[in-house]
Amino acid sequence: MDLKKLAKALIPDDDLLPIEEYENIYPERELAPKAEVTRLAPSPTGFIHLGNLYGGLADERCAHTTNGVCYLRIEDTDEKRKVEGAVEKVISSLKYFNVNFDEGAEIDSTLNEYGPYYQRQRVKIYRAFAKDLIERGFAYPCFCSEDDLNALREKQTAEKQTTGYYGKYAKCRNLSEDEIYKNLAEGKTFVIRLKSQGSIENKSTFRDAIRGEITVTENDQDVVILKSDGIPTYHFAHAIDDHFMRTTLVIRGEEWLATLPVHIELHKVLGFKLPRYAHTSSLMKMDGETKRKLSKRKDPELSLDYYRKAGYFPRAVVKYLMTLLNSDFEEWSLKNPTADYRDFKFRIEKMSRSGALFDLNKLNDVSRTEISLMSAEECFEFLNGWVQDFGTDADKAHFADKAYIIKVLELIMGVGGKKRRKDIERAEQGVRLIDYFFDDTFSPEYSYRYGTEIVNTVLGEFIKVYDPADDNSAWFAKVKAIAPLVGFASEMSEYKKAPENFKGNVSDVAEILRIAVTGMPNSPDLCTIMHILGKERTLARLKGGMIK
Ligand code: GLU
Repeated sequence: MDLKKLAKALIPDDDLLPIEEYENIYPERELAPKAEVTRLAPSPTGFIHLGNLYGGLADERCAHTTNGVCYLRIEDTDEKRKVEGAVEKVISSLKYFNVNFDEGAEIDSTLNEYGPYYQRQRVKIYRAFAKDLIERGFAYPCFCSEDDLNALREKQTAEKQTTGYYGKYAKCRNLSEDEIYKNLAEGKTFVIRLKSQGSIENKSTFRDAIRGEITVTENDQDVVILKSDGIPTYHFAHAIDDHFMRTTLVIRGEEWLATLPVHIELHKVLGFKLPRYAHTSSLMKMDGETKRKLSKRKDPELSLDYYRKAGYFPRAVVKYLMTLLNSDFEEWSLKNPTADYRDFKFRIEKMSRSGALFDLNKLNDVSRTEISLMSAEECFEFLNGWVQDFGTDADKAHFADKAYIIKVLELIMGVGGKKRRKDIERAEQGVRLIDYFFDDTFSPEYSYRYGTEIVNTVLGEFIKVYDPADDNSAWFAKVKAIAPLVGFASEMSEYKKAPENFKGNVSDVAEILRIAVTGMPNSPDLCTIMHILGKERTLARLKGGMIK
């Protein structure tokens, strides 16, 4: 058969470059020794999930700990799944978690010499190589319809044979020249399939960067490389793109292990050196007693939007994922709690081979610790970031007064002090803690444990002596002095000796004041709260707290 003529009939494009030219267009990268070139290759579906961040973080760490390059390639061959704005969303979502690309789609970089980074814009390259494979007898047209393929699958299933298009079942492999041209003349649609040279009798050892040595069975499937619309399948695009973008380490999900033999064969027939592969395990969660994959339908925490909306501190999410990526990260992090996680020696070989168990409770633990380590400034930036995206109008107005918020944060989070508050997991909790420092969101619950006379006497007497200039000890002396006026002990020691002689003690006086000023029986240091609120607001609250 005249294969050159066939290739021209199947791929008539007259604007394809000779394939040799691509080696010059995309030369080997000039890299430092051991530098890794990694990539994230998402489909632009608009749904960006924890798995993308997990893989993206591995890509980013591998590249940036070796002075390599981490790039973004958009696998948009499936037009139906494409969503407007999805690429920007991938970039901004990952950037929020400090995963930044050096090159690629929509990345402004001088390194962008291996593009285009959208697969749809690379169709000519794939078609040039498909044409070459046809010319060399490694690919052929297949005119089988959906119905033909379904019938084949049913027959194979009934005969307990491996399903697929291979060997004796690959009907179109043996079409005569006449049959092919007749089909073409009739305008029948066709796909281009690989003419596999492999046999499942042959096994070989393959070294995965995470899994170590694995046995792979040679591919014998005549997989589709160009679909009927002339667009490549994942397999074909992967081989060509990772070769010409000069990826050194392909980090991808374990779901691709099953078709690894196809990729090995494609590299071979295309004459490309195989990159190194690292197949990551899927993120799992416990569902009752069973471990299962995180699911888009069942688990809102799979979406990265979830963490943004819920107000997780991005560094906490990253540090938690690092504990899943490299099992010795946790120990390192405990020893170096304030160190930059990027100082940790990340290695792909240290990744887990079994499923990584994602545990929201553990993330919350990490989050509490990270938030408790923040400076007031950092805490402001973090809370304010959430407020601007998800807060109420009142929150936004409050956060306009940065100096006031910083004072509040120093007090309620213990920021800068020795006693750090360790119960804040997410921004929203922090923002709600601030509400009572503003009149429009002050919603007191006056849960006094005493009656009108005692409460109003305590508040009235304090109003008489209150001086905003008092320091802590002067303030407390005044609180103490009120105690005997309502039959309370002013010294705890006195009270403890004979509680039956008193209606309460000095801390109960403080509690009444606290409830009036903050609306709650528990709060950080009340004297400081009064200082922050200022004279007018404090007096108004003391008065407003009286029982009518
Ligand atoms: N587009 C593929 C996916 O999202 C990429 C797999 C790969 O990284 O090679 O699963």
